[in-house]
Amino acid sequence: MTNPLLFAFPVDLQLEDLLIESETLTLLLTSSRSSQTCPDCAHASSRVHSRYSRRLADLPCQGRAVQLYLKVRRFFCDNPVCPRQTFAEQFPEVACAYARRTLRQGKTLQEIAFALGGRAGARLACFLGLPVSFWTLLRLLRGTLPPHFPTPRVLGVDDFAWRKGDHYGTILVDLQTHQPIDLLPDREAETFAAWLREHLGVEVVSRDRASGYAEGAKKGAPDAIQGASRYHLVANLRDALQRLLDRERQCLPALQKSESATPPEPTKGRSSRKQEVQRKEAHREAGERVPLTRTETLRQVRRGKRYERYQAVVELHR
Ligand SMILES: [Zn+2]
Repeated sequence: MTNPLLFAFPVDLQLEDLLIESETLTLLLTSSRSSQTCPDCAHASSRVHSRYSRRLADLPCQGRAVQLYLKVRRFFCDNPVCPRQTFAEQFPEVACAYARRTLRQGKTLQEIAFALGGRAGARLACFLGLPVSFWTLLRLLRGTLPPHFPTPRVLGVDDFAWRKGDHYGTILVDLQTHQPIDLLPDREAETFAAWLREHLGVEVVSRDRASGYAEGAKKGAPDAIQGASRYHLVANLRDALQRLLDRERQCLPALQKSESATPPEPTKGRSSRKQEVQRKEAHREAGERVPLTRTETLRQVRRGKRYERYQAVVELHR
């Protein structure tokens, strides 16, 4: 039997036999190459030492799992100066040495693992005729080499939560290609500086306004221009505006109702912590109720807003 195009094997692999069962398809393959080169000295040899079978899992066909049985020859190396006496023939277009699955099956499983992860990926793979454990999928994921990216000229840096409120890492983005290029295990200045020292050529660093990344950029790339990222500027503005509106919340309905209404008294400015404590003590001495701190007031305002929203939802539901 020749090499049918259907299975897309290399031209020097011949299909000798094919066994069709209810759930599996078994293909018996042999190599038609007359000689092989020694992996150590590259000396060609055609003197066969022995033969054995190698079993490989391949991509499924028409819902059946496919198994390849490769008849492998072991050759003598006749080069007198080569330390190797025998070697087995390899099929680098089909599978790696010692592998139990073909390259194309490995690639397919890797893509499934990237899309779905371990358990969900294993369920789908089994349904598609690629029986595999979720541990194997995770091993394939971890065995993938990370892609290499050139050092960007304009680098964006920001933190992300491994676990919110507990543990944070750093994401680095090439701002010209909008491509994430690396992750750092924490958000320490020294870690960021070390990355910059290993990746020379960053000219602009776009960062948040916290001191950590500023310090890291200063240490790791002292010549780079640093700038606050637009996102963080807008986010800071939004937060400041939110706090202002929360403070002035009582005035808003009055303003909405009538422009001619008496303007509300301006709220007091931010008191220092010391003044706050002194005021509280004075109130306590006078036997009055202690006024709330700024944080407590904000918390109360937020709670009031949530309660109003809840009431509105209940009303709409009715
Ligand atoms: Zn050799």
